[in-house]
Order: sequence, then structure tokens, then C-alpha cells
Amino acid sequence: MNGHVPAVVQGIYDEVVQRNRGETEFHQAVREVLESLAVVLDRHSEYTEMKTVQRICEPERQIIFRVPWQDDRGEVHINRGFRVEFNSALGPYKGGLRFHPSVNLGIVKFLGFEQIFKNALTGMPIGGGKGGSDFDPKGRSDAEVMRFCQSFMTELYRHLGEYTDVPAGDIGVGAREIGYLFGQYKRITNRYESGVLTGKGLGWGGAQVRTEATGYGAAFFADAMMKVRGESFDGRRVTVSGSGNVAVYAIEKVHQLGGRAVACSDSTGYVVDEKGIDLEVLKQVKEVERARIGAYAERVPSSSFVEGGSIWDTPCDVAIPSATQNELDGDAASVLGRNGCRYVVEGANMPATPEAVRVFRDAGIAFAPGKAANAGGVATSALEMQQNASRDSWTFEHSEARLEEIMRGIHARCHATAEEYGSPGDLVLGANVAGFLDVAEAVHAHGLI
Ligand code: GLU
Repeated sequence: MNGHVPAVVQGIYDEVVQRNRGETEFHQAVREVLESLAVVLDRHSEYTEMKTVQRICEPERQIIFRVPWQDDRGEVHINRGFRVEFNSALGPYKGGLRFHPSVNLGIVKFLGFEQIFKNALTGMPIGGGKGGSDFDPKGRSDAEVMRFCQSFMTELYRHLGEYTDVPAGDIGVGAREIGYLFGQYKRITNRYESGVLTGKGLGWGGAQVRTEATGYGAAFFADAMMKVRGESFDGRRVTVSGSGNVAVYAIEKVHQLGGRAVACSDSTGYVVDEKGIDLEVLKQVKEVERARIGAYAERVPSSSFVEGGSIWDTPCDVAIPSATQNELDGDAASVLGRNGCRYVVEGANMPATPEAVRVFRDAGIAFAPGKAANAGGVATSALEMQQNASRDSWTFEHSEARLEEIMRGIHARCHATAEEYGSPGDLVLGANVAGFLDVAEAVHAHGLI
């Protein structure tokens, strides 16, 4: 570990590595939180005595299961399903499902661990969990995706419940998949339990703004960061990596707040459009046609497509990495800095590597970690649960106003906590400490369980 960390924190980290061998993303996520906690343990000896940190680093329950399914040609496939029920101190386990070939236990644990603190920061009554599968939905027909989701839920349903564990989407899991998963849950349990999944369709228990929430929330968070520096999105160049749900709606809100998003990407490359990304076209290409980002450049004359390469080579004032973990490394961070970037706001979960974060810190670039900046998605999921519980549905305007209030609140709390703990402006420390304190207090109150 880097920096000045007391032996107790170093010891906890070494133990986590020892007990969870090869799970590098999980180690990375734990280390980033532990590096912030020395100041907390100094003030709270009870957390050291009761091994509160060690207990939070150990998932309450980890479920791994086989998911067999048949493709359209009749070929049998075997995938692996995961659900890590990490921490229920603040509420039922809550967190998305990711369907992507890179999914393994270490990835799910890193995401679940982050989710604990993110969910705490929202101020809503939700614990932390995450799940998914190494299933690759790319190029699969609707019928294949449906059969996969039904098989996945046939095992997972026994672990879920509106008071137990409430999954939602993540990479590769959107409204279509949530629909199939909900249908199978309902069929098996014979219960119309709206609150068991979030991200549902608007006509059957879903909430306004849930689709837009993560991207909108990241843009609101960025706006709040600028405001404390007396700045705004007005006229700023923004690059947003990815072109999924988070990226699309981050771009939409950036435009509404007066910024200009000039680039976005997918795994094949990136497009630059100096006029500002045309959202109609982007949504048509990515959401309707599920096509490659290159198709955008074929349709929009003011844009160009760069195959492969790094979107971070594009000069910008604000970068919102919204694709996936570790997509922005130290070299990319240096390039961003040299090109005058002033703000980096994580729309995805842990997209910046530890080296990148160090570069931002040294260069005085304001940086917001995902567990704070992308909390808008899960916060709106909690609003969806709230609406389901009261059999109510709110307007778009009301829901968006709640989201904005929550995001500005999270920023204010991270900002204030960083100051209180002697690191003004350090939103990584602010988010980790504020999130940890909420969770630790509840864990402590519940006794040794
Ligand atoms: N997958 C999202 C996240 O990373 C949302 C989870 C949820 O809504 O439960 O926070």
C-alpha cells in the first residue's frame, strides 16, 4: 500500500489479499477504501476492537451457480451465475447484475464492495450486493437472452425478496433482461412482488428517471463540483467514454447543463463530433439497433470514427469515464492533464486505475470516485422501491428533482467529510469515510453477527 497507513490497516489489506487470492479488482477496491480509513480508526478505537473493517471486507454470503441454456440452433451452453450478498447493515442487499464475459467472482466482489459504501452515501435504506454472469448477450437473439434469463432466475429466485435482496441492471442488463427476470420470478413464486427487482418497465412497476438516473446523476455531481469552485458546465468540452445507459444520459444532462459532449466510445473505438454528440442518432445506433459506434460516424457528417485508440486523447475540460473498470490508466490520465482537463468524474464503477487517480491528485485535477458520482442509479432504484412499497408512481419532474437533490447532497457530504478529516477537496477520502461511517455504525449497533 502507498501513503502513510498504520500497521492495522496494512494488516487488514494483507489478510484480504491472502484470503481472496487472484481477485485483483477486489483487492484494488478494498485497498482504495482502506487507504482512507486510517483517520477514522484513529478516532474510533471500537472499530479496531470489534474488527469492524475486517467484517465489512468479508461478504455475508456468496452464491455461485450453474446456468445452463440452449441457443437458437439447439446447442447447449453452460454459464456461471453469481450473487454476492455483501452487507445488509443498512437494508436489503441492493445492487445490479452484470452480464459480460469478463464477469468472475473477483469482479462481482469488487462491485459488491463498492456498492456497500455507494448505497450508504445515497442515504437510502439499502445494503450492498452485486451479481451477474459470464454470459455474453452480444449478438444473441431476444429468445436466447430470454432463455438465459429464465435459467438464471430459476436458481437465483430463492435468494431474493423485497426485504432480502433486490437486484437491478448493470453492464449487459437493461430493461429487456429485467423484464425476463421479473417474469420468471413471478412465475416461480406466484407473487407479483414489484419490489424484488428495480429498473422495471414503466408500465409494470418501474420508476420514472431510473433509466436516465446514473448518467444524469454523474452530470449533476460534476456540476456540484464545479459550483464549489465558482465554475459551471457552460461552454465546456466534455468527453464521455462508453455509449451505454450511463454514457447516453450523462451526455444528455451535460448538454442540458450547457456543456458540449464531443466524444463517446465503445469497445471498437470512439467517435468525435465537434458539434456535440447527436443524441437521437446515438440512441438509435446503440439502444435501438444495438450496433457499433462506427455507425454513428457513418450517419453524422460532422463526426469521425477512430478505430481502437484511446478516447482520452481527445482534449476536454471534463472527462466522464462511463464504460468499465480500469479503462483510464496512468498514461491516459497524463494525456488528459497535458490537454488541460480539470475535472474527472467516474460514471462507471472504478474506471480510473490507482495510477490515474494519483496523476489527477498530483496535477490538481478534481476527481470524483464512482461510489459517489454514479450513485444516482441505485438511489433512483431505492426511489423505485419506495414507490412500489406505497403502490405509487411519481412524475418525471418530481423524480428528477429528488435525484438532483440526492446527488448534490452526496457531493456536499463528501466535500464536508474530506474537510473534517483533514483532506480538503479529496472526494475519494470524503466518499470512503462518509460511506464507511454510516455502515460501521450500523454494523456495530447490530452486535457481533
Ligand atoms: N448497477 C448500478 C450500480 O452500479 C445500479 C444498481 C441498482 O440500481 O441496484 O450502482
